[in-house]
Amino acid sequence: MSAEQKITPEHLKRTAYLYVRQSTLRQVLEHAESARRQYALRQRAAALGWREDQIIVVDGDTAHTAASAAGREGFQRLVIEVGLGHAGLVMGLEVSRLARNCSDWHRLLELCALTDTLILDEEALYDANQFNDRLLLGLKGAMSEAELHLIKARLQGAILSKARRGELKLPLPPGFVYSLDERVVFDPDQQVQQAVKHFFETFRHAGSAGSTVRAFRRAGIKFPHRHQAGSGDLQWEELTHARALELLHNPRYAGAYVFGRTRTRRTSEGRVTYQPLPTDQWRVLIKDAHPAYLTWGQYEENQQRLRGNAHAYGIDRRQGPPREGCALLQGIVLCGRCGRQMTVRYHQRQGRLVPAYVCQREGVATGQPICQCIPGSGIDEAVGKSVLECVTPLSLEVALNVQQELQNRLEEVDRLRQQQVQRARYEADQAQLRYMRVDPNNRLVANTLEADWNGKLRALTQAQEEYEKHRQADQQKLTEAQRAQILNLASDFPKLWQSPTATDKDRKRMARLLLEDVTLLRGKTLTVQVRFKGGANRCLNLPLPLNGWQARLTQPELLNEIDRLLDEFTETQLAATLNERGCCSSLKLPFSARRIRGLCRYHGFKSRQQRLRERGLLGSRGIAELIGSKPILVDYWRQQGLLKGVPLNDKGEYMYERPDPEAVKQIKMRTRLKPTEALA
Ligand SMILES: [Zn+2]
Repeated sequence: MSAEQKITPEHLKRTAYLYVRQSTLRQVLEHAESARRQYALRQRAAALGWREDQIIVVDGDTAHTAASAAGREGFQRLVIEVGLGHAGLVMGLEVSRLARNCSDWHRLLELCALTDTLILDEEALYDANQFNDRLLLGLKGAMSEAELHLIKARLQGAILSKARRGELKLPLPPGFVYSLDERVVFDPDQQVQQAVKHFFETFRHAGSAGSTVRAFRRAGIKFPHRHQAGSGDLQWEELTHARALELLHNPRYAGAYVFGRTRTRRTSEGRVTYQPLPTDQWRVLIKDAHPAYLTWGQYEENQQRLRGNAHAYGIDRRQGPPREGCALLQGIVLCGRCGRQMTVRYHQRQGRLVPAYVCQREGVATGQPICQCIPGSGIDEAVGKSVLECVTPLSLEVALNVQQELQNRLEEVDRLRQQQVQRARYEADQAQLRYMRVDPNNRLVANTLEADWNGKLRALTQAQEEYEKHRQADQQKLTEAQRAQILNLASDFPKLWQSPTATDKDRKRMARLLLEDVTLLRGKTLTVQVRFKGGANRCLNLPLPLNGWQARLTQPELLNEIDRLLDEFTETQLAATLNERGCCSSLKLPFSARRIRGLCRYHGFKSRQQRLRERGLLGSRGIAELIGSKPILVDYWRQQGLLKGVPLNDKGEYMYERPDPEAVKQIKMRTRLKPTEALA
């Protein structure tokens, strides 16, 4: 069949696509020849009957490899256009190079066959629906992929054998450079050498990458970095946690030449991932290949230490299983400020362990202050309470009623599900009909239709199974006994939660069964967002937790009371009164005169003397002047009932009210008469 016979008016109505691809920018610039060949292809298409404006050039993929369709928008666009049946002709210099990956290539061929699209290269015009053409195209595709594979294998083999001899030039970490004769030597810059030495020395003392970063930041020391594989410009940057780990894990500092420390994998979306390998699986490891900052022994010791640190603080600590500590929300608490997982830290307070929730991931990475740290005991209590509240008789009753209501509507739901099965059956029948009607000789189309029919049948079986499964689940009605059991939960659960035999670990397990996660945000108040497993949310607003010295402050109400009572009582009397009432200090200790004096001084309360003086009372000196007597005699007159006194303190001192004129007269008379008698 000649080329002209393959082309129908139908093809000419549709667009012709010219796919242009050059792997590298250099090819794009240098290969003017291929541009000429591509122009010739255009003319060929025009000669075959396509109008100039029907020919579209797809060149979005210039400088992309054809090894995979991922990341090649031009190729994907081409596939879409062909799939939609917009293309009558696809052109390329060597069409098999459209895709050098057999699965991409065959997909394109199949689409071309289905949508009746022709393929044109410099040699011939192909119709994917014709067996000979299809065979030829398939072979070309396979050869093209094999060619790429061979080139790759040859290049990689060369790289590997060069690496085995330790001669492959690899990027060097800071502290090393290539000499003029291509050997690895210490960086001639003394400052760089010092910085690297100081880094490893600091790690030896500090024991963790995090504290090494902090030490560097505190001292304001920056770390060197050279662009272009250790030979470019020198730059000084802040040390980060990730960078510190990279340096510590790099065996080149121990003088070892290494190659192939990671394995490369391609994901289904075409992304490349790197997976680190253990030391014994590295492709090449040559020890003592060049000068070193560390011995191999020191390097291995560092690795051991980093592994130990990772177990204590690292990733496996977060979201781990419930542990023995008392922090209820361990592993399920999120930071409301940055969204990261928060970790738990314990403090010793009066012999008890007190948890605090800390968001420190970012802080660890950059040696900065941590994001937020929130004392945990108040939060645990509040969350525990709201967990208990959600398992009340009322809420369970409501849930059961909703369940009952759903049961009642089952028929409606059942009808809807049945319709889905019906639809699947109809589609399967249609696919069968299409398959029956096709010309058996047209195997390509018949195959596609048969596959379609099979797919529809599978969907039908799936829909039926799904329907059965749901129907059976619906029929499982709650028995009265089960209902009672669920309602019993309301009384059993709080008992279990508060039971003294339940460990912290048990409570954590229960909390995790009910809670999805808890988000903490510290603002003017503490916002606690509790997310339950069922999808319900609850927002708790708690007062900000007190820190150490705030917690030790006496309650304001108690202080007011002390202020008020000082008008009536001396300090000792007041302490006794408060203790009688069962009040105690913030440290749960009984009051004493000394403690009360301290509180008054701290809070700036008036002294008892000041208070009495304000009430118009006088000291012994003042009253002595008033009655014309000696201060030493004043207490005697009080005992005689001539003066009224109010106790000032516990040493037996008094303050006195102003005496009435009659009493003064009496005192004066008795003083004048017989001073000695008066003393007696
Ligand atoms: Zn945070």
